[in-house]
Amino acid sequence: MGNKLSPLLADLFMSDFEVALSTEKYFPRVWKRYVDDIFAVVKERYLIQTLELLSSRHRTIKFTVEKETDGSLPFLDLTMKRNGDNTLKFSIYRKPTATDRYITSDSNHYGAQKQAAFHSMAHRLYNIPMDRKDFETERNRIHKAAELNGYDKDFVNKILRKHQRKKHRLNCTTLKPEKEEQHRISLPFYPKITNPVQSVLQKHDFYAVYKSENTLKDLLCNSKDKVPPDEKSGVYQIPCKNCSAVYIGQTRRKLKVRLREHKNAVDNDRANESSVAAHTISQNHAIDWENAKLLKNVRKTSNLNAWESMYITTADNPLMNEDDPPILSSLFHLTKL
Ligand SMILES: [Zn+2]
Repeated sequence: MGNKLSPLLADLFMSDFEVALSTEKYFPRVWKRYVDDIFAVVKERYLIQTLELLSSRHRTIKFTVEKETDGSLPFLDLTMKRNGDNTLKFSIYRKPTATDRYITSDSNHYGAQKQAAFHSMAHRLYNIPMDRKDFETERNRIHKAAELNGYDKDFVNKILRKHQRKKHRLNCTTLKPEKEEQHRISLPFYPKITNPVQSVLQKHDFYAVYKSENTLKDLLCNSKDKVPPDEKSGVYQIPCKNCSAVYIGQTRRKLKVRLREHKNAVDNDRANESSVAAHTISQNHAIDWENAKLLKNVRKTSNLNAWESMYITTADNPLMNEDDPPILSSLFHLTKL
């Protein structure tokens, strides 16, 4: 599940999977799935047939089963317990190895990031139907976790009250507060300047979200030598001095080597060697060598054609290029949206 697309793809795949099997005799009559975790109600005597049915659909999709013990079963972050009257009782499930370690109060993070774990625990506390005892146990656990990570009682109480009020409001009305359109802006977080900057932004209806850019790794590992652009390979552009035309090309060698070749062709009037030379001859124009530049550093040579085609297809200026780009696709226009 490492890739960002994985949960979406898993969902698409599993939806299709479920629709195809849902009319089968041994398909569970209760089937609740979250990505790849499923809660199902199956008659014990049909368990083997059900597992066989599920595993028969696709050769790489195999199912394993965890049965209830003493009428109790963990599912996601819940423990579900069967009551005597065939109803279910819920409480919060934590792995035995859970350490309750979150971002500590003295950590150099933006406040909202420190609160996030506690907001999610508070949300769960007020939205999972629990009995009084389990509710109290969980609330104590949240307070303990806060203490362990260096937060004072007020920090948690504020968060808990917020979720309690929200729950109460939702119980009283089905009306939802109108969501105002918010402009978001992503900024690096620096403890001393973030707050003043944010208050200025808020006046102009911008809501700032923060990324931790100033990590120790960023501070310590920026030892790379800066390679000048003309020592790199990739897609480059050469402009004309007398008109708006540009030449866009690719090179797998250093840019300065390729530019020298173009320059030689221009100096010696060899139009067949370079479209740049062809332009100077046919238009009687000069080349603006000073402003020739690398548009995109491409290290993987197999990607060069795609990058060159994209820059050629989406160029704003007229082109000196005499041939079509290596890849013709109207999809490149989408990159400009
Ligand atoms: Zn020109």
